[in-house]
Amino acid sequence: MIAALILGLITGSFTGVICYRIPRNESIIFPGSKCDRCAVKIAFYRNIPVFSFLLQHGKCHRCGIKIKRSYFILEILTPVLFLILYFSHGFSIIFFYKAFVYSILLAASFIDIETHIIPDRFFIILLITGFLYSVLRNNPENWFLGAASYGLPVLLLYSASDFINKEIIGFGDVKLICAAGGFISYSGLKNLLWFYEILYISAGIFSFFLIFFRKRTLKCYVAFAPFICFSVFISEVYL
Ligand SMILES: [Zn+2]
Repeated sequence: MIAALILGLITGSFTGVICYRIPRNESIIFPGSKCDRCAVKIAFYRNIPVFSFLLQHGKCHRCGIKIKRSYFILEILTPVLFLILYFSHGFSIIFFYKAFVYSILLAASFIDIETHIIPDRFFIILLITGFLYSVLRNNPENWFLGAASYGLPVLLLYSASDFINKEIIGFGDVKLICAAGGFISYSGLKNLLWFYEILYISAGIFSFFLIFFRKRTLKCYVAFAPFICFSVFISEVYL
């Protein structure tokens, strides 16, 4: 359990690095982390997930610029998720597979929130690992059926955007849902409908509150990837 927790803390911290560097086209391995404003290098003892953020009150130790709270949220969410996975699967291949997929989905969510773009490489990585895993489990047809059935409704919705000249859903979301469908795999029309209901209801409620509290207007962009991530999780755990 401690191992799952530590693995989650490290992965969450690394996912934060990915979320910061991929949209900026920087290498995700080198150099080490540095502050956004004063460029001071962050020593390893100041780079301990969760604790460093709390000890430094979410600020850079030299210049005092605020570190984005989203990294802190990632550093909390990932270990919690890893613990849930550990309790349901132990340290098995399925644990590592799911931990990997959810980390990618979380990274896609946070990048979508910040930049309104879901990088293609996430979709490609998810498709490849999903396919390889299904081959390993001897049921690639389930993976394919999942990707096709979950992807089709949003693909139709996306095509419909052309006719009414208004973007209902981004193509990045379509691709992410398709890859997520392969991950969930097809298990009946009822579960498929549930997935879409959770997706649209959660996104709808969230948008309603944003508009209600006047933080956004109807025309604003709301990142869809976090809701895809949430719906995948609910579908996976409860359906
Ligand atoms: Zn600084």
